[in-house]
Amino acid sequence: MAKKQFKAESKQLLNLMINSIYTHKEIFLREIISNASDAIDKLHYRSITENLPVSREDFKITVSWDEDARTITVADNGIGMNKESMESNLGVIAHSGSLDFKKTMEENPDVDIIGQFGVGFYSAFLVSDKVTVRSKAYGEDTAWCWTSEGADGYTIKECDKPDYGTEVEMHIKPDEDGEDYSDFVDEYRLKELVKKYSDYVRWPIHMMLEKGAMEETGEKDEEGNPKKEWKTHLEDTVVNSMVPIWQRSKEDASDEDCMKFYREKFRDFEDPVSIIRVNAEGAVSYKAMLFIPKVAPYNFYSRDFEPGLQLYSSGVMIMDKCKDVLPDCFRFVRGVVDSPDLSLNISREMLQHDRQLSTIKSNIEKKIKNELARLLADERDKYLEFYKSFGTQLKYGIVDGYGAKADLVKDLVLFHSMSQDRLVTLKEYVEAMPEGQSRIYYASAESVARAKQLPQTEQVRDKGYDIICLTEDVDEFAVRTLRQYDEKDFCDIAGNDLGIETEEEKKEADAKEEEEKEILDFVKETVGDKVSSVKLSRKLKTHAVCLSTEGEVSLEMEKYFASIPGAPEMNQVKAQRVLEINGSHPAFEALKKAYAEDKGKAADMAKIMYVQALLIAGMPVDDIMDYSDLVFKLF
Ligand code: ADP
Ligand code: MG
Repeated sequence: MAKKQFKAESKQLLNLMINSIYTHKEIFLREIISNASDAIDKLHYRSITENLPVSREDFKITVSWDEDARTITVADNGIGMNKESMESNLGVIAHSGSLDFKKTMEENPDVDIIGQFGVGFYSAFLVSDKVTVRSKAYGEDTAWCWTSEGADGYTIKECDKPDYGTEVEMHIKPDEDGEDYSDFVDEYRLKELVKKYSDYVRWPIHMMLEKGAMEETGEKDEEGNPKKEWKTHLEDTVVNSMVPIWQRSKEDASDEDCMKFYREKFRDFEDPVSIIRVNAEGAVSYKAMLFIPKVAPYNFYSRDFEPGLQLYSSGVMIMDKCKDVLPDCFRFVRGVVDSPDLSLNISREMLQHDRQLSTIKSNIEKKIKNELARLLADERDKYLEFYKSFGTQLKYGIVDGYGAKADLVKDLVLFHSMSQDRLVTLKEYVEAMPEGQSRIYYASAESVARAKQLPQTEQVRDKGYDIICLTEDVDEFAVRTLRQYDEKDFCDIAGNDLGIETEEEKKEADAKEEEEKEILDFVKETVGDKVSSVKLSRKLKTHAVCLSTEGEVSLEMEKYFASIPGAPEMNQVKAQRVLEINGSHPAFEALKKAYAEDKGKAADMAKIMYVQALLIAGMPVDDIMDYSDLVFKLF
């Protein structure tokens, strides 16, 4: 039995197709211009292989419009179409003459065909109610006119057209359903669309643009000077840049050129701190130009910020912010990636997620990391400027994904060193460690100044050990994610065990604590559940008390959790507090004396000691009135 062909309601099918493929109506211009560029590429290819008398300099694409007639026309002097190719290319949906051509073509680096799916042309119907294509194939005498109103098929008739090439005239739909189609029939809008999507199409795109200048009127003013007035005229202008800057060699595109490109393209007033040029060949070939900005955009640390690199394929912009090629820990990087090898999906608005993308991403990750490391090593001042804006992001990069990128980023983060009073890397900290120091000490507080005041710093500093200050919310999480650096554990100076005591010192301290057990138990009882234990301090030298913690949660983390809005469970996360009392401090002697003579007074003192420790740690005091009463009792 003979097979039957599918039949379809062409009007519905066409509408269904174009409206479901494309999300932005404005891409119609990109598609029609891409076809014109392909047509020129084809003729160019033939002119080389068959030695035809056409010259490369004459190739051009023209975009014109007529507001009164509501038409936009894209013309090219490419290969053109005869009646048969109109039938098979414009009459058959999803048949791509360009793909056929690409298959027959031998490897030729000078041809860069864009088309492949055979649907782009119909995107003209997103904005038009009638499309007319006049075309004359190169080397033929007859020109043909293809017309369609999208709905019920098309007609092809002979027509007049003196030169080879194609002209696509789109009659723009009336404004309806809240859509402002008229907007497209406008010099400014069309130019903007050409720049946006087709800036790097490699053939010149001409438009007649209005230019203005002060011109002499021929008359003179009172003082006899020639009168001038603002006059406008139309000027044939090439609108696109053609050769993208990232395709040019380093000799052809200076750093200054690239900076200018960056400032314009990414609307930054500041120059970036670094330009990374990538020219990769191999499994996936692509070119990239990446920029490390100096200043963070105002919304960088908010949800509104959209990271990603701009993606081009064969000179046509595919995606504005492609996240799949940019590692999240380096989400501040801006730039473009251009590859002819991408497997695009049919709308060319999205990509198939595949190995090519992940290859590009991991290459780019290495390049960025190396450049940042180089900057840190060779141009520290510049790095510090960059770090001011994006250091926090790098630390988030350590924490994110349970530390998946911690190793990549750990040598790029800086912390304030107490001894050196400047930002240092973890490597620099470890290298400066004196003999005998086995841990990396850190102090958490809301500022460096506050960190330095923490009583617990005394013993560590006395040993000649440096302490890094963790002053941002993310810092402690970053340090905990890393757990070690260069096999040295991180150690919170407000934690319980600083690993500093010798065995002997430990024994001595244990014995002393045993001796004072009664008074310490008294303090614990008085303060109650607010602390998990009360100890004689092994860290304090000149200060009377401090608060340290046992277990996983530190005081800084408690503060952080308490500050998360709308998360009542998180807000309840509490550190296990330890009240440490300095056994050699006069305050302790006074406490003991009171304990022997007047238990009520000793209880007041114990309560005051706890609140003092809280205040020193920068923690809020629950009942400030009680505390005030206690203090005034002393008068
Ligand atoms: P694609 O570009 O993916 O092949 P299109 O739907 O955009 O699909 O175009 C279909 C075909 O129509 C093209 O492959 C090409 O053969 C032909 N065509 C479209 N526009 C032109 C043009 N300006 N000059 C010559 N041929 C064209
Ligand atoms: Mg096309």
